[in-house]
Amino acid sequence: MPIYLDNAATTPVCPEAAQAAWETMTAGFGNPSSGYALGQQAAAAVKVHRETVARCLGCLPEEVTFLSCGTEGDNWSIRAAADYGLRKGRHLITTAIEHAAVLEPMRALEGQGWEVTYLKPDRQGHISVEALAAALRPDTVLVSMMLVNNELGTLLPVAQAARAIRASGAPALLHCDAVQGFLKVPFTPGDLGVDLLTISGHKIRAPKGIGAQYIRKGLRLKPLLLGGGQEGGLRSGTEPTAQIAALAAACAAWRPEYRRQMAEVKAYALERLGTVPGLEVVSPGEAPHICAVSLPGYPSEMLVRDLSDRGICVSSGSACHKGRPSHVFAALGLPKRVLMGVLRISFSPDSTRAEADALAEGLTAITQNRIAMR
Ligand code: PLP
Repeated sequence: MPIYLDNAATTPVCPEAAQAAWETMTAGFGNPSSGYALGQQAAAAVKVHRETVARCLGCLPEEVTFLSCGTEGDNWSIRAAADYGLRKGRHLITTAIEHAAVLEPMRALEGQGWEVTYLKPDRQGHISVEALAAALRPDTVLVSMMLVNNELGTLLPVAQAARAIRASGAPALLHCDAVQGFLKVPFTPGDLGVDLLTISGHKIRAPKGIGAQYIRKGLRLKPLLLGGGQEGGLRSGTEPTAQIAALAAACAAWRPEYRRQMAEVKAYALERLGTVPGLEVVSPGEAPHICAVSLPGYPSEMLVRDLSDRGICVSSGSACHKGRPSHVFAALGLPKRVLMGVLRISFSPDSTRAEADALAEGLTAITQNRIAMR
């Protein structure tokens, strides 16, 4: 097995989630809409899984809608919130460092005549709530702000954003992409004061193909999919019962001490990476599992390949898209040499100090080989 330090991209499925999926696929496979016992047992299981996810999220079961992924939840939130606010205004606010799953629907709305304000980060990747307060207008109908940035590991001021919206009197709903924050940083949708919040299973050791959407009780959104009326009529389609079971199992298997464990390994990794000649820390990240570094003068793609040859997986991924730096690192205004050498390193509860040592040694060897070749 390679040393896997790209857990913000995706995670291996934990045994509890795999077991739950297997049992649901092979034994409890009924359609929850079927009237016979096998179907009704499946419906009862989905009810229990919704309660589990809600408990881990800190909300009511009826506030949880299952869907296929973070992208689906982000897209739906933005389109449905814009539709919801249509009569009150046509101004939306987000940040320049959101995931494409938020930025692309925002751009699509711009193409349909909506006005979008993109809040810029500072050099460290932080978004100022004062800038948000200044951007809010009487016609602002949606603010979408992520909880943890997926490339920098920085925390965004979502709770303060909720307070700023209330203080401004703007009719804006608040959506939070919590795909990288769920279980990694402590929060509840109620504490944050959000109306909509999106999570994704494959970032927390559930399989790909399952996510969940928090919709504040009382908020009536336009359905995402029309059809058989599943998920309270909001997202029709036969429930993916195995994925739902796996999501609930992964949530339940997640231990509070994982945060401290990941933070400790990350801190150790940053210390060790400090010994790599020329390496710069771009973002230590407040979240326990993500940080970004750069080896100026070494293209990210080459570093990813060379590390892969040594059995180590890290990302330039989001960081370097088809040879171009990502919008997130570009937004920091980094010098070009730093920008082009960026790596994102992301940890899981299974990450170890020995893996951090191997990464630091691998990068040191790459720099030494380069010097030897000159
Ligand atoms: N939002 C953030 C912050 C992410 O990191 C990702 C995935 O990397 C997504 C949304 C998209 O989630 P999914 O892969 O489940 O569609």
